[in-house]
Amino acid sequence: MSTDANFEPTLAEVDPQIADIVSREESRQSSVLEMIPSENYASRAVIESVGSVLTNKYAEGYPGARYYQGNDIVDEAENLARDRATALFGMDHANVQPHSGTQANMAVYLGLIKPGDTVMGMQLDAGGHLTHGHSVNASGKLYNFVSYGVDRETETIDYDAMLELAKEHRPKLIVVGATAYPRQIDFARARAIADEVEAVLMADMAHIAGLIAGGAHVSPAGHAQVVTTSTHKTLRGPRGGMVLCDQKYARRVDRGVFPGSQGGPMMNVIAGKAVMLKEAATPAFQEYARQTVENAQVLAQTLEDAGLRLVSGGTETHLLLVDVTPLGLLGKVAAEALEVAGIVTNYNTIPFDPQPPTIGSGVRMGTPALTTRGMRAEEMKQVGGLIARALEVHQDEAALVSIGAEVAELCEAFPAPALSPR
Ligand SMILES: *Cc1c(COP(=O)(O)O)cnc(C)c1O
Repeated sequence: MSTDANFEPTLAEVDPQIADIVSREESRQSSVLEMIPSENYASRAVIESVGSVLTNKYAEGYPGARYYQGNDIVDEAENLARDRATALFGMDHANVQPHSGTQANMAVYLGLIKPGDTVMGMQLDAGGHLTHGHSVNASGKLYNFVSYGVDRETETIDYDAMLELAKEHRPKLIVVGATAYPRQIDFARARAIADEVEAVLMADMAHIAGLIAGGAHVSPAGHAQVVTTSTHKTLRGPRGGMVLCDQKYARRVDRGVFPGSQGGPMMNVIAGKAVMLKEAATPAFQEYARQTVENAQVLAQTLEDAGLRLVSGGTETHLLLVDVTPLGLLGKVAAEALEVAGIVTNYNTIPFDPQPPTIGSGVRMGTPALTTRGMRAEEMKQVGGLIARALEVHQDEAALVSIGAEVAELCEAFPAPALSPR
């Protein structure tokens, strides 16, 4: 292989199969209504950073204290990312190395508590995440997780019950944050509960980090001592994670990431996180965050008007949990029918769901990706109408395909950002 870049073969030349897959996936992403609430379109600037030669550098350790030579330049990237993260979220310290949201959570557990310690987290079927103590996840195997849920009537977090549970079990750490919860989280209330039992409060803002950055959701800063996140959801960055914390926990968090649970950081992804943080600090991103929530609320209203039931009665965030049983459907059937029409969502359990997670009574959907494409309230009414019609004709393949033609038109009118570097 030549080392002259002009003779370096392209991806299409080296591996036509993978080149074709990338190209077909790019077409798919731009030709469907991408409504999985944890997905988004990273900017070309972010994707360029991730696809850069920074992937070649080994940088175990932290800026100024690496276990490898030649890190002066990549140190600058990590310092930029750290400074931008602390400024944007108003926290003392940032660790931008976690490879994912899951790794960020594991690093905090490893750094702050010991195996066997008691932790409180939100139940999976109430909207919590696997890493908040589910039995199949390392968190549930290593630590003694106690779960809180939502109130049966309001389907919102029952903070009084949470306090009682905390008093009974005296956890060292309380985790708030969710993956399928449409309401804002009351971080101040959660901190008061943690203080009452002398626990540390960890806010996992994986889903809502972009809303928080853009001022469209209350911030955990000043309440949670430790905050974890994914970077590729509403924050619209590269696939990865981050931890932010009070100075007091900085050393323990850093050690939880490296050497606790990771080796060398992905410097290309850290550069992408720095770009993401720069983008998220702009007025345009604030407008994006506000519009994302407005869009979710318009969509929720449209679906409710069409006879569907919204878990908790609506949304204050970027996502909706739709109970499809009033239409005589189940989650999996509904999500599969929507996909035939080009509307990509995921089936989900709803609180106190009689169905197992492999079927679910609900469909989870969100507006982050559609809002990145520039869609607004008018389009959300149209999308809501298409969803309602698709669910109605869910057994009629031809009817679903014809709805798909309308979906394709809408997608053409609102093109996805240029995805791959060209
Ligand atoms: C998505 C998510 C995570 C995990 O993120 P990954 O990057 O997929 O590992 C953790 N916590 C919550 C609440 C999430 O929604």
